[in-house]
Amino acid sequence: MSLMNLNEMKLYENFLKKELVSVACIVDEEGYYPESIMRGLGELGAFQVSGLSEQDALSKRLELIELSAKYCVSTSFLIWCHTTAISFVLNSNNEYLKKKLLPLLEDGQVLAGTGLSNPMKYYAGMEPIRLKAKRVDKGYKISGVTPYVSNVGPGHWFGIIAQVNEKQRIFTMVDCDSLGLSMTEHKDFSGLNGTRSFTCRFNDVFIPNEFIISDSADQFIPMIRSSFVLTQVGMGLGLVQASVDTMLKAMNKQNGTNRYMDICPSQILDQVTALQQKAYLLSGSSKDEDFISAVQIRLQTAELALKATETAVLYQGAAGYFRKSDCMRRLREALFIAVVTPAIKHLKRLLHERNSVLS
Ligand SMILES: Cc1cc2nc3c(=O)[nH]c(=O)nc-3n(C[C@H](O)[C@H](O)[C@H](O)COP(=O)(O)OP(=O)(O)OC[C@H]3O[C@@H](n4cnc5c(N)ncnc54)[C@H](O)[C@@H]3O)c2cc1C
Repeated sequence: MSLMNLNEMKLYENFLKKELVSVACIVDEEGYYPESIMRGLGELGAFQVSGLSEQDALSKRLELIELSAKYCVSTSFLIWCHTTAISFVLNSNNEYLKKKLLPLLEDGQVLAGTGLSNPMKYYAGMEPIRLKAKRVDKGYKISGVTPYVSNVGPGHWFGIIAQVNEKQRIFTMVDCDSLGLSMTEHKDFSGLNGTRSFTCRFNDVFIPNEFIISDSADQFIPMIRSSFVLTQVGMGLGLVQASVDTMLKAMNKQNGTNRYMDICPSQILDQVTALQQKAYLLSGSSKDEDFISAVQIRLQTAELALKATETAVLYQGAAGYFRKSDCMRRLREALFIAVVTPAIKHLKRLLHERNSVLS
């Protein structure tokens, strides 16, 4: 199924397994940011997509996110943030960013995130755009607050959308070291505390023209929103497979009592395999007309992740109820997949509105 070169995939999987198994718990709970793992992936070429076809680049991204989620969804999410930021630059016509920033992002020297939750909700008719932009000489000045942006900090970059007026919104990359940008880290989430997630306050932050991805975010969004949603599916696919492994290991406990449970590992495995096939098939042709299919797969995977992680706890019993157990961490990870934008409620709204248009 994988379009990624098998040797290349094995290299990343070995690296991720070796690095993540021992740190997943402290990343999730204690806020340890797996920066060296992100940089190590960059050095191995895991973020390198320039020169690949659009389809191969998307499959590579999806697969990397899936592989890492088997061991640690926080890191998988950081990979999603970083590779999504890369997709912003790649899809733009900005030669300056392609020359100066893209190579550093691809080899992991510079790490980046995406502050698009609010704009994604804006485009779904859920809330107004929170960041405002004012045209000034040689660029824009941005003001406002975006409450959660992950994989950021000193030396990092991230993508945002800001509103100039009713008719115009701009899409730009932001350097975290910009003057007027203040950032406060969240360390009190119930999980994923090592994702370097910050509230970002913009106070007249100057953005030079060279950093602009598009003067029309409305036109740019259709170029990236399908892959934005589809690649998130990787987090759920990896997480569900890890939960199935836990269920299988607990199968023979107490004289095979888990055999009497309503949900068995093979049922979950069949469902995750079907979703995996659909996701990789779609990654081969991800265009904006595939957006609704990506939304459907994203929703089904988020729901399956909730079911699989809960069932894994039931299979394991008290051992899975310890706060630091893998099972409990995975339950928190599944809840994150369910609430991160586009959250389950957001996905359901998109599907409902699409169905109303068609009926
Ligand atoms: C661990 C973690 C990491 C995340 N990482 C990212 C990320 O990298 N990028 C990203 O874009 N989002 C990120 N989010 C946000 C996430 O995607 C959701 O948007 C968020 O959980 C809120 O969703 P909600 O629909 O429940 O909105 P609610 O929490 O109900 O909030 C409603 C809306 O109010 C607005 N709002 C809330 N507080 C403020 C405030 N202080 N100032 C201005 N507006 C405000 C926001 O626009 C928000 O969407 C992260 C969330 C978590 C828990």
